[in-house]
Amino acid sequence: MSHDRFQKIAQVMFTIANHLSETAYQNLEKARIIAELEETKEKLAFHRNHLQDIVCDRTKELQQAKEDADQANQAKSDFLSNMSHELRTPLNAILGFSQLLMIDKDHILSPKQQSHIQQIVKGGEHLLSLINEVLDLAQIEAGKMTLSIENIDTNMLIEECLPAARTLSKEKNICFRNETTQDTPYVSADFLRTKQVIYNFISNAVKYNKKDGEVRLRTEIRDNEYLRILVSDTGIGIAQEKQSEVFSPFDRLGAETTDIQGSGIGLVLTKRLVEEMGGKIGFRSQENEGSCFWVDLPLGYGAVHKPVETSPQEITFMDLGLGQEQRTLLYVEDNPDNVSLMESIVEKIDNLSLICTTTAEDALKLIGKTRPDVVIFDVNLPGMDGISATRQVKALSCGKNIPVILLTADAMPSTVERGRKAGISDFLTKPLDLEELVFSLRAAFYKAPSVNYVTAN
Ligand code: ADP
Repeated sequence: MSHDRFQKIAQVMFTIANHLSETAYQNLEKARIIAELEETKEKLAFHRNHLQDIVCDRTKELQQAKEDADQANQAKSDFLSNMSHELRTPLNAILGFSQLLMIDKDHILSPKQQSHIQQIVKGGEHLLSLINEVLDLAQIEAGKMTLSIENIDTNMLIEECLPAARTLSKEKNICFRNETTQDTPYVSADFLRTKQVIYNFISNAVKYNKKDGEVRLRTEIRDNEYLRILVSDTGIGIAQEKQSEVFSPFDRLGAETTDIQGSGIGLVLTKRLVEEMGGKIGFRSQENEGSCFWVDLPLGYGAVHKPVETSPQEITFMDLGLGQEQRTLLYVEDNPDNVSLMESIVEKIDNLSLICTTTAEDALKLIGKTRPDVVIFDVNLPGMDGISATRQVKALSCGKNIPVILLTADAMPSTVERGRKAGISDFLTKPLDLEELVFSLRAAFYKAPSVNYVTAN
């Protein structure tokens, strides 16, 4: 073999050896990477499992926390409902008998006694509005406030606010001006809650006004989207530095040192209600000049001119307009004070007789025998409750056409809803408002459809 040829073969062999060693190195490297990958995979699997365990544990903890919170919320709701019931029952007697004393023509009270009774009524009403506001606020916070958002006739709504506005203003010698027009557009809102909002504005505008001051109610359309309802006054106004506290709960901005009654939660509740209805609330105020509070509610559809209906016959306070016909009311109530209050009321109504019983079971027997024209059930009765009893009355052939009214201290919306499903004609809350009772009885006697479900506003 020539030297050259030997060199070439050696070169080729060297190249092959080099290549082989490179391939071997690459393979080794691949094997190392694969091993690393396997290890990483294992680690990943471990972490994934660990993460799953953590997520599982955390989910369990969160579920437990949610169950605890739900339970606590339910307990709070039950507590408030019970408290409200416990406080309303004695208030029913306080307010009911005081109102009766004031209108009793057989025993005219001396001016001093009248003034004392007025103080009792005022105190009772203040307590009642406080209970209602706290209850409402708790309901909103628990997400349990049920609103009935509808297309509502703003003219009718304002019309319903006017009597109370005029009475409040008259008491303080305030000039009340309704500057709204009959063609105000409809809004999308809850009728009763909107009334509550406007009433709160008017009540504040009167309360924080000056002697011989003025309150104006007007509306304007905003951005073609909202109807703004404004209540302005010429009162004491709110100092600039206190304006950020207006919607803080229980903050009366110094009014607590005056003799103006209040609790400092009216506007907080009003704001929450407005927001729940998809609206906005605001105000501007100038110390010593006055304030203007407003609410923007989403526009509804329609604006119908409705003439105000006037009844041909003016019906007096305790007159049910029964004429000569004798009617019977069956009242099912286990609390003797409430029974005695109802007896005193019915005594003052011509041609109406009262049958009372303390249990729903007895009432169901009595209905077959006495055929009452109207039944009023308390909800919490010993044995069968008033709502189940209503269902039973409606199932009787002799009872299905008898209007049933619920009268209870439990003003929770869920109770109203259950009553409505059971077939009640109306719902009244304790403390009993005489005018509401008369209104409800009149509707029932004339078998008119129930006008509204009265809540404790
Ligand atoms: P209150 O029960 O004290 O009236 P609100 O929540 O309705 O509670 O109002 C909170 C505070 O805002 C009031 O205590 C009062 O100081 C102030 N305020 C509300 N409305 C007016 C108004 N129209 N003019 C002046 N101050 C007002």
